Parts: sequence; C-alpha cells; structure tokens
Amino acid sequence: MFTETVPPLYPLFADLRGRSVLVVGGGAVARRKAEALLQAGARVIVNAPALEPDLAAWAGNGRITHRAGRFRREWLRGAWLAIAATDDPAVNREVAEAAEAQRVWVNVVDDVELSRFQVPARVERGPLQIAVSSGGGAPMLARLVRERLEAQFDESFGALATLLARRRARIRARWPDIGARRRAFARLLAGPLQGLLRRRRHLEAERLLEAELRTGDDGGSAATGSVALVGAGPGDPGLLTLRALRVLNEADVILHDRLVSAEVLALARRDAERITVGKQAGGDRHTTQARIHALMVEHARAGKRVVRLKGGDPFVFGRGGEELESLRAHGIDYEVVPGITAALACAAYAGVPLTHRDHAQSARLVTAHCKASLDTLDWAALAQERQTLAVYMGVAMLDTLRARLLAHGRDPRTPFALVENGSRPEQRVITGTLRELPALAERHAVRAPALLILGEVAAFAQSLHWFGAAPLGTAVAGGSPGVLDEAA
Ligand code: SAH
Repeated sequence: MFTETVPPLYPLFADLRGRSVLVVGGGAVARRKAEALLQAGARVIVNAPALEPDLAAWAGNGRITHRAGRFRREWLRGAWLAIAATDDPAVNREVAEAAEAQRVWVNVVDDVELSRFQVPARVERGPLQIAVSSGGGAPMLARLVRERLEAQFDESFGALATLLARRRARIRARWPDIGARRRAFARLLAGPLQGLLRRRRHLEAERLLEAELRTGDDGGSAATGSVALVGAGPGDPGLLTLRALRVLNEADVILHDRLVSAEVLALARRDAERITVGKQAGGDRHTTQARIHALMVEHARAGKRVVRLKGGDPFVFGRGGEELESLRAHGIDYEVVPGITAALACAAYAGVPLTHRDHAQSARLVTAHCKASLDTLDWAALAQERQTLAVYMGVAMLDTLRARLLAHGRDPRTPFALVENGSRPEQRVITGTLRELPALAERHAVRAPALLILGEVAAFAQSLHWFGAAPLGTAVAGGSPGVLDEAA
C-alpha cells in the first residue's frame, strides 16, 4: 500500500514520435488518452469491441488503428507503452499483467497498483511543460497544484521556450561555459525579453535576443526595470484578472492606491516592497502625482519590476494616462493590465444591469468630484432618459447633481442605486428616486468609496440583488423599471 516508505516515481518525458502505443478501451477516457498520445506524435492503436464516435472517426480516416474485439496479448507486440482504459477491471488487469510480462510500460487508468507508469497533470506552454504528480495517490491534489501553476505562468513562457529553443545552438556557442550561460540567462530573463513576448512583440524580442547574442557579455550590463500599470478591481480579490495576479507575483515594488483592498495586496509576492501612494485628502494633488511619477521612474531605473496598482481600472478616472506619459517621457518600459472598474463591479454586485434592451440603450461613466468637474459636463445630454449614469467620486456632490439633472428635465422619479464599498464584505446599497437622492444618502451616512448608478435600470437592485444585505432606502414600487413607465 501507499506509505511514506514507497520510493518516489522517476519522472520522465518520453519522445513517442512514430512509436506504437496500445490503448485498450473505446470510451471517452480512451479517447482522451489517444488524443494526448496523438499530440505527442505516437502511433496509436486502439483495441475495443466498439469505439465512441470520435475514435471511430479517427479509425475511419487513419489517424489511429483499430483492433476490434476483446484484448489479445499479441497486440502488445511492438508497443512501447500501453494504457488500459476500459471499465472492466478484469480486462484492465489482464492488460497490466500481459504488459508487465512483455516489459511494456503500462498505465491502468485510476489504478495505482496495476500501473507501472503514471500520467501527470500538466501545464503546457509550447515546448515548456510542467508536470505534476502525486505518485497516483492523490490525483486531485496534483490537479489543484496544476490549476495554481496554470494561473501563474502565462503564454509568454511558451513563446520564450520556443524562442530559446530556436537559438539553442547559438546560445551555447556564445556562452560555452555553463556558468557564463547561466549568468547570461539570468540577466536575459530579468530584462525586458519576456515582457516583449507578453505584449506580443515577438519581432522586437527576437531582435533583443539577437543583440544580446552578438554583444552581450556575462559581466552584466545595467539592469532595466519596467512598470506594469495594473487594475486591482473594486476590492473583491476574485475580480482580479489572471494577468494582474501573475504580474503581482513577479513584482519587486508595488506602488498602490489606498483604494486597493488588503485582500488584493495579500496576493502579491511576499517580499515585494509595498508603498502606499494614496493621495491624502487636502494634500496638494500635483505634488503627490509628481511624486508617484518620480517613484515609478526611480524604482524602474534601479532595475525593479514595478507594479503601479490602482483601484478598479487604471484608465478609468485613475490618471493612468498621465502616468504612462511620464514613463514614456523617461524611456521606461511599461504594460497595462486592465481591471474591473467600479461601475461594472458595483452594477454587477448590486444586481443592476447597466444596459437593458427595454430601459437603457447606453451607459455613461462620469465623475463628479468637484464643482469644476461638474461644470464641464453636458447636462442636457446626461438628463436624457433611457440611459444609465455611473457617477464616480460623487458622494459630496449629490445635491448639485440632482439640481442640474432636474433643471435639464430628468424625471424626479428616476431610480438610483448608490453602492458603497461595492464587492467588499461591507457593501451597502441604497436605493430610491432622484428626488430623494441627497436626503437618503445623508440619512444612511454614505461614505466614499461609493458609486452612484442613476437611471431606469437602477430599479432592478430591488428585485435582482444577490450580494450582501438587501438594499436600504425606499423601494421603487415593484422593483422593476416598468412601473416608472406605467406611472408616466
Ligand atoms: N479607477 C477606479 C476609479 C477611481 S476614482 C475605477 O476604475 O474604479 C474613485 C471612485 O471610484 C470612488 O470615489 C468611487 O466612486 C469609485 N469606486 C471605486 N471603488 C469602489 C467600490 N469598491 N465601491 C464603490 N465605488 C467605488
């Protein structure tokens, strides 16, 4: 049985090109096994009395060879591997014993005892493969580890492996000494090469490698850092993108806003330096923004992988554009990882569809953080019905907002949903109509961060809410926008 004294399996990656492999079984499991073997270039022979449709089609067009009928030992002859994937334990055992006797490596699906080799769970990135095995004892655990790895390594690893494999001979010739080669690799991988591949700039990546092969020495040139402008989403760490997670895993320095939740920060690389660069209320905004620019440049120049982490999406009321301009001006490499912006997250977590075939044909993202920003808005356009307004940074300006919308003719009965701390455990949703908006916000002491959704669709918060507590405030009768139309 499986105890700690069982020696570990010996891992190995087999070259099966042109080699025969016998798969016994004709169902879905056998098909999956056959498919993976075909991918590896094996000559697949499937033995089963009957084949499921795909296998039958492949047998028909010659991709695989079909041996009909019950398993016979002589079909193992010439095979390098055998896989027993039938649902008949007796047949599986027979295949295992026959294979053992003929020294053919055998795997019996889901049977550690009978198997002489295990097929690992794996992550594939081009020629780069990461195989995970629990020795067959805990395949679910292996799968779990695989999932984590899957999230951690993006497609650029495949491109990188392909690129390096193609230049293998030249790389060896350039750095014949293994120590020098290792140092060169470390330098290459710490540099912008992979970032270029991630940004699908393969040509530039190739040129960079070329240049390195021609001129690079192992003395170590100045390291170049980079900045990733990353959207952290509204707070729920589940709303991070895979790319954001990967970039956070590789970060040396994280410059983050106050808006970024602790749960998200907890997912970043443990020894990354974390710097809060949130703007203090009442602070001089320009100095602060200039200081953020300076910090990004300074750390990138020191060769660090900098993550500039922002709440929501970096390009939605996040000054991301200005930050990129500054990086560009300083010649620093950057990439942008979008995040789920507050409007999308708050709408989703409040059960409010931002658009709706019957109630809203457009949605606008607007900011209302001060009088000056309000003055630049086109109120006549904003007051039109059947559109949704998502208002950022508006908590302090609700009075003015209401007055202007009403003055431009928006119906005072237009529903709103005010979402405070959207997607976070402490989320609150206040609903009501435009007429009572400032009063309700005050009664419930709504604080930033809060997002206002105004428009016919906001009424859905009453009926479609699913996250956290039910909405506070006044219910729009019926909890659906139709009622407003009827009353009109
Ligand atoms: N770049 C961010 C917005 C920054 S402006 C994004 O894309 O979401 C800050 C404003 O965003 C806040 O005043 C608030 O209106 C809104 N906001 C951000 N996170 C929020 C959250 N979790 N819940 C409600 N509103 C949020």
